[in-house]
Amino acid sequence: MGPRGGATGNDCDSSAASADDLLVRLRSFKSDYFPLHQQRFQDLVADGQHPTTLFIGCSDSRLLPYLLTGAGPGELFLVRNVGAFVPPYDGSYGHHGTAAAIEFAVLSLQVGRIVVCGHSHCGAIKALYEEVPAEANNLRRWLDLGRDAALPVVPTPDALRRTEQRAVVLQLERLMDYPMVRRRVVDGQISLHGWHYVIEDGEVHVFDVESGHFVAASVATHSGTGPYHPYVEHDGQVLSDENP
Ligand SMILES: [Zn+2]
Repeated sequence: MGPRGGATGNDCDSSAASADDLLVRLRSFKSDYFPLHQQRFQDLVADGQHPTTLFIGCSDSRLLPYLLTGAGPGELFLVRNVGAFVPPYDGSYGHHGTAAAIEFAVLSLQVGRIVVCGHSHCGAIKALYEEVPAEANNLRRWLDLGRDAALPVVPTPDALRRTEQRAVVLQLERLMDYPMVRRRVVDGQISLHGWHYVIEDGEVHVFDVESGHFVAASVATHSGTGPYHPYVEHDGQVLSDENP
């Protein structure tokens, strides 16, 4: 609710009505969408949720996890943050919701897949090459989780894309530092999926752990899989936390 809507408190006022299009959408959900899926929602309440996939995605408004995956209610356990970053397991990033969600999704919900989804034109990745506003203390520290993916070059569009993809792999590596994740990946109970979504093409590029390349989903043979192998770039550089 914006200050204007709060000040008038009058739903009949035309400016307030247009400012509260969210209310219109809430009512539309109840009247249009919910009746079509009512039984599904009620089953999910009666039986509890059993999502198959933990989806860690960037908060960017152009990234659409449900549309990309065709998922319906109850399928995705969803975490979004700036950059689709994974904090370290050791708790060195304090009380972090993404770390807690990973532990909950794996230990309690027993998901079989973990997706890390970055995307083209990612503001978080671009910010790795720029000054962060002085007041943004939390953002600056948060971006540290992507710094090992940054390249020592001028951030051309190609360099930014490479950085976006390297950042996805970096987060997969950090996921493997979570003991409950590593154990299940090694045992074949969890598959890891590193995705780079190119907004303007509608194409998700899938990280292939065998080749170390991102492959367009339209020609890929799988959507990503474990177990994890070190990521070696075209130039032979090995990307890891220890050897950025
Ligand atoms: Zn982003």
